[in-house]
Amino acid sequence: MTGPHVDRTQDCSVLAVDLGGTKITVGAVHPDGTVTGKRTIPTGAERGPEAILADLVSLLGCLHAEVPDAVLIGIGSAGVVGPSDGSILSATDAIPGWAGTPLATHVTDRMGLPAYALNDVHAHALGEARRGAGDGRASMLMVAVGTGVGGGFVQDGQVLVGHRAVAGHVGHIPVPEAAGLPCTCGRSGHLEALASGPATRAAYLRAGGELGDTEDTREVVRRAEAGEQLALEVLTTGARAVGRSIGALVNVLDPEIVVLSGGMAGAGELWWQAVHEGVALEAMDRVAGTAVVPATAGADAALLGAADFSRDRARTESIHADHTDA
Ligand SMILES: [Zn+2]
Repeated sequence: MTGPHVDRTQDCSVLAVDLGGTKITVGAVHPDGTVTGKRTIPTGAERGPEAILADLVSLLGCLHAEVPDAVLIGIGSAGVVGPSDGSILSATDAIPGWAGTPLATHVTDRMGLPAYALNDVHAHALGEARRGAGDGRASMLMVAVGTGVGGGFVQDGQVLVGHRAVAGHVGHIPVPEAAGLPCTCGRSGHLEALASGPATRAAYLRAGGELGDTEDTREVVRRAEAGEQLALEVLTTGARAVGRSIGALVNVLDPEIVVLSGGMAGAGELWWQAVHEGVALEAMDRVAGTAVVPATAGADAALLGAADFSRDRARTESIHADHTDA
């Protein structure tokens, strides 16, 4: 028999991590959703997993000294993350050698606090669903269009991870406009190869546009808004493909709301208009009115999601432990 269980995990502060190919951010997420002690360092991905883990543990150590009452660690990480043990099952070249890293176990051992890990885009979607534009909605599809194209489907506060933890790879569905374009996944003709930020810039150059030394996709957006026909065509072709893909996903998943985030979602009215046109082309009548809106959780979305994920996991484990004790 067990006494009344005091659940400290739902109202606790969490040391949260957003670990991507270019930078690592940590911050303490408090029960009211505020984030304190945020610090960001470059990932230095080329140095390999051991150096990255050492930096991460050191960052978390500093943060924990500031927020000693934090009792959990939540990590959103690049790569496909094993749902049971928080290890990295596979990863792209963004972090060479990252696959096989026992991320959550390593951090748990070094920090002496339970750590839980999920994919960074899943964390982002969860944060947006619970603390952003999806707040109060029964289900939400997030699509993030930035350096890559990713997404996540959240229903009843749970992000769909999938049987092999790969769910949500919205960038890797075929779109006719991308036919023949090589994709980061090794295949071709996928949405990401046409509509991500870098892909939009590349499409502009392929079509004969000249950008000189400018690496920034925003220059294409600026020219489109200034009325340049080529830039306008490139931008709207990508955005319409995003919209058509969303329309198809809405037909499959029927989310209450669709939320768009990432750099391209900040590209302005022309981009949004083309997305809405694309959705209208594909969404079936019953779901044609599904709201498609900008994200609102901001830059901390993945930290917030990782924190909530760790609270949920810790609570589930403590319930199981109670039942075992009894
Ligand atoms: Zn692909």
